[in-house]
Amino acid sequence: MATLNILVAVCLIYVTFLFVVAFAAERAAKQGHGGWLRSPLVYTLSLSIYCTAWTFYGAVGYAARSGLEYLTIYIGPSLVMVGWWWILRKLVRIGRSQRVTSIADLISSRYGKSNLLAVGVTLLAVIGTTPYIALQLQSVTLSFDVFSGSNEVAGSIVDRDSTALWVAMGLTLFTIVFGTRNLDVNERHHGVVIAIAVEAIVKLFALLAVGVFVVWGLGGGLSETLQRIDASEIGMWEMRGDRWASLIFLSAAAFLCLPRMFQVMVVENDHESYLRTASWAFPAYLMVMSLFVVPIAVLGLDILPEGSNPDLFVLTLPLATGREGLAMLSFLGGFSSATSMVIVASLALSTMVSNHIVMPIWLSATGGGAKISGDVRNVVILSRRLSIAAVVALGYLYFRLSGGGTALASIGLISFAGVAQFLPVLLGGIFWRGATRTGAFAGLSVGFLVWAFALLLPSFGSGVLISQSVMDNGLFGLAWLRPQAFFGIEGMDPLVHAVMWSISLNTLVFFVSSLVGFPSPLERLQGAQFVNVYEHSRRPQGWSGSAAQSEDLMIMAQRILGAREAQNLFEREAQRQGVSGYLPDPSPDFLQILERELSGSVGAATAHAMIGQIVGGASVSVRDLMAVADETAQMMEYSSKLEAKSEEQARTARQLRQANEKLTQLSVQKDAFLSQVSHELRTPMTSIRAFSEILRDSEKLSGQEKVKYSSIIHDEAIRLTRLLDDLLDLSVLENGQVNLNTQTGVLVDVLDHAISSALTGSSDTRLTVRRRKSHEVVHMTTDLDRLAQVFINLIGNAQKYCDADPAELTINASLSQGQMLVDFIDNGSGISKEDQAVIFEKFARVGEMKAGGAGLGLAICREIMARLGGSVSYLPGQGGAAFRVILPLAASKTTL
Ligand code: ADP
Repeated sequence: MATLNILVAVCLIYVTFLFVVAFAAERAAKQGHGGWLRSPLVYTLSLSIYCTAWTFYGAVGYAARSGLEYLTIYIGPSLVMVGWWWILRKLVRIGRSQRVTSIADLISSRYGKSNLLAVGVTLLAVIGTTPYIALQLQSVTLSFDVFSGSNEVAGSIVDRDSTALWVAMGLTLFTIVFGTRNLDVNERHHGVVIAIAVEAIVKLFALLAVGVFVVWGLGGGLSETLQRIDASEIGMWEMRGDRWASLIFLSAAAFLCLPRMFQVMVVENDHESYLRTASWAFPAYLMVMSLFVVPIAVLGLDILPEGSNPDLFVLTLPLATGREGLAMLSFLGGFSSATSMVIVASLALSTMVSNHIVMPIWLSATGGGAKISGDVRNVVILSRRLSIAAVVALGYLYFRLSGGGTALASIGLISFAGVAQFLPVLLGGIFWRGATRTGAFAGLSVGFLVWAFALLLPSFGSGVLISQSVMDNGLFGLAWLRPQAFFGIEGMDPLVHAVMWSISLNTLVFFVSSLVGFPSPLERLQGAQFVNVYEHSRRPQGWSGSAAQSEDLMIMAQRILGAREAQNLFEREAQRQGVSGYLPDPSPDFLQILERELSGSVGAATAHAMIGQIVGGASVSVRDLMAVADETAQMMEYSSKLEAKSEEQARTARQLRQANEKLTQLSVQKDAFLSQVSHELRTPMTSIRAFSEILRDSEKLSGQEKVKYSSIIHDEAIRLTRLLDDLLDLSVLENGQVNLNTQTGVLVDVLDHAISSALTGSSDTRLTVRRRKSHEVVHMTTDLDRLAQVFINLIGNAQKYCDADPAELTINASLSQGQMLVDFIDNGSGISKEDQAVIFEKFARVGEMKAGGAGLGLAICREIMARLGGSVSYLPGQGGAAFRVILPLAASKTTL
């Protein structure tokens, strides 16, 4: 009894000490010299609430029952810290920028601030955590029991239930005092965090002390202990790959999703950079915590009598060997583990319960949503305190009902599997913009149903909450709905089975529903905020007074309505309210008007959300709303760009149509030309054949006739040759294989030469050429022969096609803007507008074909002029047919 009294006294002293530490920390923080309270080390130590009584006592029990498998519980979080710290970093950044107060808050805020989702997550978190709190109470009472039992022959004299009740009440008091002292916007609790850090050291020290005692005091040194371990059953436990994988996954997922872990890791985090230290320091802490687990388990099994509870070896080993001081320390370690967990878990859960369940109900019941005053603060604090009491009470109730019989580890794992259901929604929310509220809701519901059906309910034992017939034959007699053999897959470990099905169905449903559904504007906004948190969250800000709100509303309205319009609206409203200046009070009337105005531009839902954000002082910053407004502006700009693009496309289409028409026309002409060419070829060929046959076969021909026939053959052959020459010339020009023979000469000479070649040799020299030679004294350096070829062609065409009588051709040479222009204008009836478009194409022949060539002349001219760097074109409006040759003076020189 004496020991028990000492124990109670030690407990009280310890708790008082924690109170003092927490008080001191709060005071220091308040007075502004609490910098040391926030350091990477304290942060890392506060993460140790992951190691609860389950870890302190339970790990040894776990090792004694299942060998090395207990390590998975440490490996999971270590992997997260070392390998996936960037996920944590993103969570921490989001937590800070969005003023997140809990995991329920984060999830609901991400999915469009859905309170329904928040309520769901809160309830699930409470259901998942209650057994865990019960577990802590159970471990504390068990350890009390051990102490009392060890001294009293007549069995336990301590009433377990009342021990648990006292502990629960003490913890509630502590949490209320330090967890709800101030209603800080940041939800930081300096006192609590520092107390937890102290407890982290106490439990580590206690476990190490017991470990050292066991190895060197009981085991006889390191090597002997190792031999004992080798000889024990623990080394021989088979490692099941599927269980290891699922347990590592589970503990990693739980590490991210447990409400209390979220509280210390994200909500209480002061600086992202702490994660850098924690990423190695916390795994190191876990390693040290797990160091002596196996030796303690092995020696406990060896030394203690058969049937001792392995979950309490950490305590019973020192007690059994008479080391009461050490046992006391070990007890304090376990006590620390249990209390820190209960404190943080109840704090985290109470925030969720109060914010998402109690407050909405209170606000709607009192209709007091609009009057934000000190009253509401008091109500919030009261609701938090009640929630803390309720959460701890639930844990106590579970403890009473379950009778505290189950092994610590299995309760812990069931809890882990429950909260792990948050993982897909959490990760999907911060990495995938397409994730929707419906998807989140559906995924979570399915995951939790499967978890409850396959793991939670059966854990109470068959026949208690789930009947034996359902276990054997499936729900509603459906064989594929057996709790431990979904879809007929039998023989799996029940835990692996439940984790695999619940998480995969959860993820699948979440993804599919998200893909099928469509996010609301607010969801979309929040999705962008969360996924792109690094771009958005440089500067979190809040709103204090109503004047500031008006200003924010003004800035936002300006962005959306335009500066002038927004100012007019605000000024008008200010006048109406009788307020001086241009900022009206944000009265409900005014807000309604503003919302209506805004919804004209951005749609009703977004306008509502935007005003709600500013006036409600919620976690989206003005800056982010501006981002949305900017996005709208960008979208408008984009759509006008699209319009311009479509106009451009219409233009291109028109051009294409024209080109197509031209092509069709040309193709028709080409066909006509081909038949023309064959005709052209055939005519001379036919006469050549006919006359050569006459020459060959008729012996009686006179000499004169022979001469006549052979000269016809000769002329026809020349015509053929010319046609072929033209074709060849054109193809050479077109392929760019032509070699220019550049010389210097005078225009007048070139024209002289061209006129004489074009007109002589022709039997019909009816064309009169008019020139002004004085204008033609232009020196130039170019391929003179090719230039002459162009002139010959143009003069020849006038000769062939000018239908006036008498036919005249005027050649005008002039200089303009550094270019030499030579115009060939005849007095014929000219060329019609449609024909002008095609005469430069090859094979193009227009008008009557009486004297025509093959339609290649102008095409050749165009190619030549292009090679010489100039051009030839039709000159409309000159009376007859008119062509202009242009040659840049860079290639010609004038002496004028
Ligand atoms: P070709 O080599 O057969 O003479 P061109 O390409 O030089 O063909 O000319 C194409 C068509 O342009 C000719 O078929 C003719 O109908 C028309 N053309 C060219 N020059 C004149 C002109 N001075 N007056 C009237 N029509 C002309």
